[in-house]
Amino acid sequence: MAETRLKGKVAIITGAASGIGEATARLFASHGATVVIADIQDELGSAVAASIGAEKCSYVHCDVTEEAQVESTVRYAVAKHGHLDIMYSNAGILLLSPSILELDMGDFDKVMSVNVRGTAAALKHAGRAMVAAGIRGSIICTGSIGSCQSGNGPAGYITSKHAILGLVRAAAADLGPHGIRVNCVSPSGVATPSSCRATRMTPEEVEQLNGSISSLKGAVLKANHVAAAVLFLASDESGFISGHNLMIDGGSTVVNTVTLQIIEQASN
Ligand code: NAD
Repeated sequence: MAETRLKGKVAIITGAASGIGEATARLFASHGATVVIADIQDELGSAVAASIGAEKCSYVHCDVTEEAQVESTVRYAVAKHGHLDIMYSNAGILLLSPSILELDMGDFDKVMSVNVRGTAAALKHAGRAMVAAGIRGSIICTGSIGSCQSGNGPAGYITSKHAILGLVRAAAADLGPHGIRVNCVSPSGVATPSSCRATRMTPEEVEQLNGSISSLKGAVLKANHVAAAVLFLASDESGFISGHNLMIDGGSTVVNTVTLQIIEQASN
């Protein structure tokens, strides 16, 4: 039986040529949404859209650091499908730097430009389209466990993910009166092309590291887990949730696993 949690909804997903965005595009389409993939990897993005099916999904080149491209992507979705109900602002980059002492200011600007400026542009233009059409839409942004703690990424990344949460909360205030919900999902480590590239780890090593910081054992975080949380926030099931940061982290940000291990060892 076909799933229908997003029946008739139109969604834009930035950064959906790969990883978490791609998994979400596939899940949204399987739940009846029409999806526009917005990314800079044209070949990959077009192939993902084609594999989902031309009637359910299309690809648009959109560099989120260019406000005009975000605006024209929103215009494209509305012109092609009549309305915009969901924006999932997910495009993001991670550039490694060992310490604030070695911070490369050029890299810092790049990360802020994609992760923060790109999210701001997505919130602004999706919000405008929804308000203009009187749509009680849902906007979801990808944060990270780095949205509320450090020690899991370089300074630029941590700063950008804290800032995304600030944008989500500010936009929830501004768009709430229009009936538009704005939320954040914050995963811990998922083995994706960018996390493997940035950490120089294999997918198995990323998953092993993430497992070691989670209090939840016997489960491995996959892109599909994040997609399922985004689906919930995009659907009417989360109709009274706004301004929320949904952690998808197996408890890693609320359970101090290091102290726990020391206490367990001491009591044995
Ligand atoms: P990914 O590399 O698989 O996907 C990121 C996508 O963003 C790519 O398709 C890339 O082309 C696109 N992108 C990059 N710059 C862009 C730009 N300027 N304009 C438009 N698209 C652009 O990586 P992922 O892990 O799926 O990352 C998705 C999001 O999840 C990011 O915001 C990332 O920070 C966040 N996140 C990832 C992890 C993880 O461990 N993988 C953990 C927490 C948060």
